[in-house]
Amino acid sequence: MAKEVLECSFCGRKKAETSLLIAGLDAHICDRCIEQAHGIVVEEAVHAKGDEISKDLMLKKPKIIKAFLDDYVIGQDNTKRVMSVAVYNHYKRLLQPKTDDDIDIQKSNIIIVGETGTGKTLVAKTIARMLNVPLAIVDATVLTEAGYVGEDVESILTRLLQAADYDLDKAQNGIVFIDEIDKIARKSDNPSITRDVSGEGVQQALLKLLEGTVVNVPPKGGRKHPDQKFIEVNTENILFIAGGAFDGIERHITKRLNMQAVGFSASKKEDFLERSHMLKYIIPKDLKDFGLIPEIIGRLPVLTYMNPLDKGTLRAILTEPKNAIVKQYIKLFEMDDIELIITEEALDFIVEQAVVYKLGARGLRSLCEAILTDGMFELPGTDVKTLQVTKEYAEDKLNKSTIKKLKAVS
Ligand code: ADP
Repeated sequence: MAKEVLECSFCGRKKAETSLLIAGLDAHICDRCIEQAHGIVVEEAVHAKGDEISKDLMLKKPKIIKAFLDDYVIGQDNTKRVMSVAVYNHYKRLLQPKTDDDIDIQKSNIIIVGETGTGKTLVAKTIARMLNVPLAIVDATVLTEAGYVGEDVESILTRLLQAADYDLDKAQNGIVFIDEIDKIARKSDNPSITRDVSGEGVQQALLKLLEGTVVNVPPKGGRKHPDQKFIEVNTENILFIAGGAFDGIERHITKRLNMQAVGFSASKKEDFLERSHMLKYIIPKDLKDFGLIPEIIGRLPVLTYMNPLDKGTLRAILTEPKNAIVKQYIKLFEMDDIELIITEEALDFIVEQAVVYKLGARGLRSLCEAILTDGMFELPGTDVKTLQVTKEYAEDKLNKSTIKKLKAVS
């Protein structure tokens, strides 16, 4: 009987032509076919993962994004709508199949104008949380042109890498929030012979980053570690959100609209109304008049604004968001088996104090802390099972606390 010649059941190579032939039940496979099959398995897995991510993102239609924002951010309806669409379009851009129709969807980087403490950072944080992408929050005021004291713009991407635990893929799909973008406006009415290292120069340096480019990023940041290997980060798919108070921009808006600005003689209330009223009409030109260079404005095409927080909004911020401040304290007390009850009058009182001391939403937390610290210190471990915070209790605790210091913090 002729001796059976072993061969690969997939490619038909004889045993002698292979480096390795592995036997199965009724078949054999050679080393080359194993490698090829492995390649196919890996490729399929990557595809499947890609599909999963895209399905996940595509599910988040603007209305769903907005609904998620509603859980955490009170009011600011216009901005929430505008941002939901911008974020949706951003991810549609990432998922666009390569076609030859020459329609290239541009980045929808966002700029938010609004007083400090109105929720700009919170919106960015909430979106990053919903999409489960890393978020870097950077302050434009610390940025300088390369070669000057301060941080180079690349440090923004170092932060993003750190937020992504150095997962380059994640970082390249992350979100960067650049706060205080208004502070790097060109100070046109103050021409200086010294170089404007923290103004226009930084804007210029930011341009490429915003648009999409490959940047050599020092993974540990700046100048302290000169020997580290650079990581190449592509900013093409990074969503940039810039925020700033743009103090005084309403003057540019009113001027453009040919309206008489309510001047310094106006009462505080009118001033407040004026600002909230005018920001609605903001257009990119106003940013230019304020001192942003046109190229930067062009790369932040989605412009939106935040309303100043009125009493009603502050009151809602205390109790309504999913992780509202009051809910957090209730939980803290609950962990000691103590029921915390804050009366409606006490809540109103806290809001009034935030308004009186111009502490804004950030102050709500400091006020609660000042009122509740004694309780949090005294009660754990005692028999007391309820802490009822009335207006009188809150007033008493605040009077004893260093509320004047709170004012200084604002
Ligand atoms: P900004 O970036 O505009 O200076 P933040 O987003 O840092 O303001 O807001 C400061 C804090 O105030 C937030 O962490 C949040 O607790 C609260 N806050 C501000 N605005 C809102 C809002 N619209 N809804 C809920 N909380 C808010």
